[in-house]
Amino acid sequence: MRVHVIGGGLAGVEAAYFLANKGVKVKLYEMRPHKMTEAHQTDKLGELVCSNSLRSNDIKTAVGLLKREMEALGSLVIKAAKAAQIHGGTSLMVDREEFSKYITNEIKSHENIEIISKEVTKVDLETPTIICAGPLASNNLVNHLLELTGEENLNFYDAVAPIISFDSINLDICYFKDRYEDGRGTYLNCPMTKLEYDNFYKALVNAERYAPKDFERAIFEACMPIEVMAERGYQTPLFGPLKPVGLEVDGIRPYAVVQLRPEDFSNKMYNLVGFQTSLRQGAQREVIKMIPGLENAEILRYGVVHRNTYFNSPKILNNGFNFKKYPNLYLAGQISGVEGYVESAASGIAAAISLYNKIINGENLFLPDVTITGSLSKYVSTPNSNFVPMNANFGIVPSLEEKVRKKERREAYAKRALDSLEKFKKENECI
Ligand SMILES: Cc1cc2nc3c(=O)[nH]c(=O)nc-3n(C[C@H](O)[C@H](O)[C@H](O)COP(=O)(O)OP(=O)(O)OC[C@H]3O[C@@H](n4cnc5c(N)ncnc54)[C@H](O)[C@@H]3O)c2cc1C
Repeated sequence: MRVHVIGGGLAGVEAAYFLANKGVKVKLYEMRPHKMTEAHQTDKLGELVCSNSLRSNDIKTAVGLLKREMEALGSLVIKAAKAAQIHGGTSLMVDREEFSKYITNEIKSHENIEIISKEVTKVDLETPTIICAGPLASNNLVNHLLELTGEENLNFYDAVAPIISFDSINLDICYFKDRYEDGRGTYLNCPMTKLEYDNFYKALVNAERYAPKDFERAIFEACMPIEVMAERGYQTPLFGPLKPVGLEVDGIRPYAVVQLRPEDFSNKMYNLVGFQTSLRQGAQREVIKMIPGLENAEILRYGVVHRNTYFNSPKILNNGFNFKKYPNLYLAGQISGVEGYVESAASGIAAAISLYNKIINGENLFLPDVTITGSLSKYVSTPNSNFVPMNANFGIVPSLEEKVRKKERREAYAKRALDSLEKFKKENECI
């Protein structure tokens, strides 16, 4: 059996490596260095395009747990990260050159992987294929995928506000109310005095940003980042997302109000309304902490405004990263609607497991949704009118069956995930 993998980024190398280790012959297509993306700098596989951090290693964080799951599934990215690790406290930081060199060597020397150094412009629908072309997939391929899936199913940029864990919001300060409505509403409101707004405003306009690329300036007009809006004038946010009108408490109107809106059915995640932003992540943390009621906010997903090609996967994929309409076609990585290096890599493994099981047992295989890997796979295939790419977080895993004290909850999530993964591996010999 031969499989095609398109894209030798984080998802693609994981998918190719998993399948090749199972004895499947893989053709891995990578267009660099003949054709580069706007962000990649080298011809290496598994290149990290920006930060050199794979984020927390702490098992009590969702991304830390995700890494343990990947390790249990034989991840190449985790092996490379360990080989290239530099001192980074609780974060897994790597020497980026050593990291991608390790990955490139492993893939190049694998007897079951053939690297084809060219751009794919058309997918062979007869051959099992995992598309891992990333958020900066080449235009020719994107145009072909548009023909296959329909324009309405592809997004070209990401303009997302930060998402906060409900558990971390201070309900002594924030209150539920919908604008102009009486009684408890759906929105959570963070009220500000004039002094609080002044300090917040100063911090916001001075916070460190990612420099926009030329094409992103047009995106900014269509979907203005909060800091760009604030720059247009002190009053501008007060007439926009921070408008306090209709949000009075006991007849008193705050000077400004930041609103939060539920992001999921279980109300475990809330997004900051109108706060799409291109601030650096550290700056986002600082600014958000200045909002009354969010002083201890846990940010589940940072805001972004940048080019990010991704599918409306819930409409086109089954759980298991398989296209509903094209049984041979799989999608993984950032283009499938997961967000982040580690998440992209994990989705490559999950898609490969699914496809491999299809090859040997005739059907796709889904990892348990109590694992972070499985919950990401479920997230990208569950109907969602508000679909945005998602980081690993505990908001997307099912709640714990039994009642567990808040401070022990994360350990319980981790134990449940790893136990269930072990059981799953025993039950499914294909892993
Ligand atoms: C500018 C930018 C900065 C980012 N910074 C971070 C960060 O700091 N931390 C983080 O966690 N996440 C970051 N991300 C998000 C995401 O984690 C990375 O993009 C990650 O590399 C995604 O992995 P991937 O495998 O899906 O795609 P990639 O790693 O981008 O891999 C896709 C590969 O496919 C190749 N390719 C594309 N089209 C074709 C084609 N037609 N034929 C053959 N090959 C093709 C590309 O050359 C590339 O090698 C960033 C994203 C962008 C766009």
